[in-house]
Amino acid sequence: MLENPIKFPLDFPKCPVCGGERRVAMEALKSEHEQGRCKGAQNAYLFQHQSLIANPNMQFLSALMVITFYDACLDCGTVYCLHAETRTAVQGMGQKPPQSAGQFGSKN
Ligand SMILES: [Zn+2]
Repeated sequence: MLENPIKFPLDFPKCPVCGGERRVAMEALKSEHEQGRCKGAQNAYLFQHQSLIANPNMQFLSALMVITFYDACLDCGTVYCLHAETRTAVQGMGQKPPQSAGQFGSKN
């Protein structure tokens, strides 16, 4: 159970369904490691996702970004979040500001 307020970064080292700790990307990279083609596999993941969090109260040139990393459980196949962290995304000169997600219930 997460405490409130949540403190980032968050780590989820086990599968939330079966409790397994073996992951697909980690195991794939282990075999590469054993063949001398790369370093450790603990940080391997299948994909990551970045989300800009829309907040109308934040300053114009910055937005909160949540970055999450995912892998699949080697034992039961469940895809789950391994790690979540936040960063502040700052818009450079000449770039568009983050687009608003709109108001809930609006038809835009
Ligand atoms: Zn599992």
